[in-house]
Amino acid sequence: MQFERPDIIRPPSEWRDYFLPLTRGCSNNTCTFCNRWGEKLHLRDLEDVKKEIDALALYVRRGLTLPEISPMVYAVAQEWDGNDVFLLDSDALVYPFPKLKEALEYLNLKLPDIRRIGAYATAQDILRRTVEELKELKALKLGILYIGLESGDDDVLKKVCKNVTAAQVVEAVKKVKAAGILTSVTVILGLGGKEGSTRHALATAKALSEMDPDYAGALTMTLVPGTPMCDDAASGKFQLITPFESLQELLTIVKNANFSNCFFSSMHASNYFSVRGTLPQDKEKMVKALEQIIKKGDPNTLRPEFLRGL
Ligand code: SF4
Repeated sequence: MQFERPDIIRPPSEWRDYFLPLTRGCSNNTCTFCNRWGEKLHLRDLEDVKKEIDALALYVRRGLTLPEISPMVYAVAQEWDGNDVFLLDSDALVYPFPKLKEALEYLNLKLPDIRRIGAYATAQDILRRTVEELKELKALKLGILYIGLESGDDDVLKKVCKNVTAAQVVEAVKKVKAAGILTSVTVILGLGGKEGSTRHALATAKALSEMDPDYAGALTMTLVPGTPMCDDAASGKFQLITPFESLQELLTIVKNANFSNCFFSSMHASNYFSVRGTLPQDKEKMVKALEQIIKKGDPNTLRPEFLRGL
């Protein structure tokens, strides 16, 4: 069966990358809030991956295009700055380890000037690998992994069917750090609903402190039509927090999380208000900005609903 390229879903900071699909879907497709919910995982044939790398190298070096190669390859290549490659899809680290290594070796061989390779990874994928294996990937320029903690509260993780505990995500992040690979961790404001809001924010701050990632990003819960979470919201089983309650959660996290050196941001388009800074040094400034906007309580200071995105 021919591999169907996934849509490009990537961290905001990786917008200039070349997007190389190794998989489509997610191996843990049970998270009730996620647009990957229920989507079957497809692994791409390694020979097909190599063909794309060959075509990309030919295009980069000599500007040549091949009729049998997907036009998407050239569309992405045209926007590429030649530095970083992002492996698609939702958890490229699930790609069988020997094949993953071979794909990265081939990428390095054909495009030796690549600076860094990044990917999303589930904690489960990471925990299946040893630190030595992760170091082998690091030597092949895997330089950053994006990992979803979503919540530090195990009750919330259970309710949303994340299939992992906060302690396991902490362990996974520490393992990646031990291999010398950068970590970027996301959390979702509002994932605990109205009832679990404070506990979710405090537990998330605690888990973030324990894992101490290089980057941490907050997203805000957005209902995706067709997901169980959306149905629960419609039936009243799950109650969304208000925009200002999401800022209160953000404030709780920024106030309570203790990092050694972490770039923390809420710049993602799903958020109602953006703060960013390096923690701990910018904590006071960020706390002040959030406290002021919460105190003011003016909806006009928030990102309007129609400008929010996933
Ligand atoms: S592991 Fe991540 S990508 Fe996969 S379903 Fe859960 S939230 Fe979505």
